[in-house]
Amino acid sequence: MTLPASLDEAVAALAATPAAVPVAGGTDLMASVNAGQLRPTALVGLGRVREIRGWQYLDGHALLGAGLTHARMGRPDFAALIPALAAAARAAGPPQIRNAGTLGGNIATNAGGPRCLKYGVTRPYVLGLEVVLANGDILRTGGRCHKNKTGFDLIGMFVGSEGLLGIVTEATLRLIPHPESRAMLTTTFNDFSEAAAAVQAILGSRWLPSALEITDGFTLRAARDYLGAEALPDGNAHLIVELDGREESVRNEIPALREFLSTLGALKIEEASDPESCEAIWQLRRDFSYSLRATGLTKLNEDIVVPRSKLVELADFAAGLQEETGIPVACFGHAGDGNIHTNLMVANYDTDAAAREKADAALDILFRWIIENDGKITGEHGVGIAKKRWFSDAVGPVAMQVHRGLKQTLDPKGILNPGKFIE
Ligand SMILES: Cc1cc2nc3c(=O)[nH]c(=O)nc-3n(C[C@H](O)[C@H](O)[C@H](O)COP(=O)(O)OP(=O)(O)OC[C@H]3O[C@@H](n4cnc5c(N)ncnc54)[C@H](O)[C@@H]3O)c2cc1C
Repeated sequence: MTLPASLDEAVAALAATPAAVPVAGGTDLMASVNAGQLRPTALVGLGRVREIRGWQYLDGHALLGAGLTHARMGRPDFAALIPALAAAARAAGPPQIRNAGTLGGNIATNAGGPRCLKYGVTRPYVLGLEVVLANGDILRTGGRCHKNKTGFDLIGMFVGSEGLLGIVTEATLRLIPHPESRAMLTTTFNDFSEAAAAVQAILGSRWLPSALEITDGFTLRAARDYLGAEALPDGNAHLIVELDGREESVRNEIPALREFLSTLGALKIEEASDPESCEAIWQLRRDFSYSLRATGLTKLNEDIVVPRSKLVELADFAAGLQEETGIPVACFGHAGDGNIHTNLMVANYDTDAAAREKADAALDILFRWIIENDGKITGEHGVGIAKKRWFSDAVGPVAMQVHRGLKQTLDPKGILNPGKFIE
């Protein structure tokens, strides 16, 4: 494994190797860096391209090395850099992402997260990129201006390209003011459809929360087993709503939103208005994930997206899939974006070939439904290797051709991330 400490070393490493996989933190969820699944390959790691090269508050940008980890960005002045980074660096993010996930990985996966409803995904926060191309050329695109319509959107092409088109070594990111204050409400509902209807009602009544997270009954039952029954009030669906902004405005909005939620069938509403109690709610949100793992079943986490109006249909479909296949399905996630992590909970997935085959067949059913219902097979984790077999159906033949053409132009020898969704 080569760990370039500088741009020159990254270029030299590329020149010296027949096949390279940009690896940053290695935390990704779509098996994109599982070298065992690839043909013999050299891993070009960016772990040491870690510098903070400068930031300009007056201009609202920061210049950062792609290997910088989220933990190093967990400072107040960086908190609003990229919502996904900010959430990861602070309370909302899981510790492994905080400590190992990197800026390069975020950019390569166009990462999202809980705050995208209000702030969007990674792409709009990337003003400029330095990319080492497969032939060793160094591309510098964009810059430090917040608007730029000079030529094609090359930045957009590299953001989310999962290391297939070039190795990002440096990025100029847009800084936006960090909100002065945050407060949260959590509540349970009798069922998922009531919680999903509440999501629509909140947005339809002109609130724009910074996060709106929904959780289904299966996950809540797992959480009650894992954390104790008293950790959660009664109910078969759970909603987290976070507001941010100026302190006075958040202070005024929270009681009004609380009142509104109570008209929507919310059972027990709880409020958090200081950083510690907000962190306790984000910890509960992380515990939903850990609770599913604690069931002992293998969690196949699919970060599918549906148009928001289809949240209930998705939950009904998931219940039907569970009935049809006998595999429990747990849904929770970023309701405001329709990005619901749909987890197939599989017994003996790693040890029993028949169980694995059955789970793979269930995934086929899930992704077919997603594609037929105007959804997307991945909202934020990426295609990687894990979702490779559904990629061409998801994008269609013409888009597939365009993807292949771009790959062929930028990496004609196929040395970057070989074996992934575009060969
Ligand atoms: C517990 C957990 C929760 C998560 N929650 C969320 C969430 O809510 N929202 C969300 O969007 N994501 C989420 N993720 C996914 C997370 O965003 C990614 O794991 C992370 O961004 C990858 O960063 P990394 O540095 O570890 O990259 P890696 O895992 O090392 O790489 C990821 C991909 O990017 C490529 N790559 C990495 N660095 C570069 C580079 N410098 N240039 C070009 N290509 C590169 C790699 O080749 C690979 O294809 C979660 C992950 C975990 C483990």
